[in-house]
Amino acid sequence: MPNSTVCLTFDFDALSVWFGYPNTSPAMLARGEYGATVGVPRILQLLKDRQLPATFFIPGHTIDSFPDVVQTIIDAGHEIAHHSYAHVDPSLQTPPEERADMERGLEALKRVGIRPTGFRSPSGDYSTVTLALLEEFGFVYDSSLMTDDFRPYHPRVGDVVSVNEPLQKGRESAIWEIPMSYEFDDWVHFQYNFTPYRNGTASPKKVLEIWTADFDFMHQQIQDGILTIAMHPQVIGRGHRIQMLHDFIDHCHASGDVQFLAMNEVVKTLK
Ligand SMILES: [Zn+2]
Repeated sequence: MPNSTVCLTFDFDALSVWFGYPNTSPAMLARGEYGATVGVPRILQLLKDRQLPATFFIPGHTIDSFPDVVQTIIDAGHEIAHHSYAHVDPSLQTPPEERADMERGLEALKRVGIRPTGFRSPSGDYSTVTLALLEEFGFVYDSSLMTDDFRPYHPRVGDVVSVNEPLQKGRESAIWEIPMSYEFDDWVHFQYNFTPYRNGTASPKKVLEIWTADFDFMHQQIQDGILTIAMHPQVIGRGHRIQMLHDFIDHCHASGDVQFLAMNEVVKTLK
């Protein structure tokens, strides 16, 4: 039945992700730089070895800080998409701040010759104006939301939600949502931090079990399902996790009738 698709996506946050944490110290920033110096080259080698395409969501701050590393991703032919300028959660920005951040991210992408069609919100969160901004700036797809799991959809603009009243639905946006989920986010499983949470250091076997079980469910139950895996070079770049990604790819290939696509190729197939 299936014709399953897997999207391997990498949020190349580098230093910028740590701006959202209480301890933006040199040691934390060094962890971000690991993503640029070690993580990305390892990922590019894996993608080359496996002959797979991928989508890299890159904040403007990373583009301006590590242009040579970003160029290696472009040279390898992978898709580059928008991931804010400095990884500030849009729900914490005023609408003018969010617009300025969007524009600054686009300018950074333009400096490396990229006009993105896709967006992923930093921290996977939205403000009430994010979706309308994406429409205004001509994006085709977003990959931040979780209203579905394996099927793209059009998220709504202008929902009215309150504690005392039922949901009043807004209009469907023009944007395709290619959903993601924290279960398929390596950061949630693996990235240890002292604050604000102390999870992480999970066994790759546990994460592989989750990812393959969802892939198997989709492959058996969902026609034309699309599974989005969201990874970070500073997380998945560690040796045991790169090996887990190899194992996950092996599992998907062994199931047959599966393709790996960049997200800008996926949206071309949607109706
Ligand atoms: Zn990010």
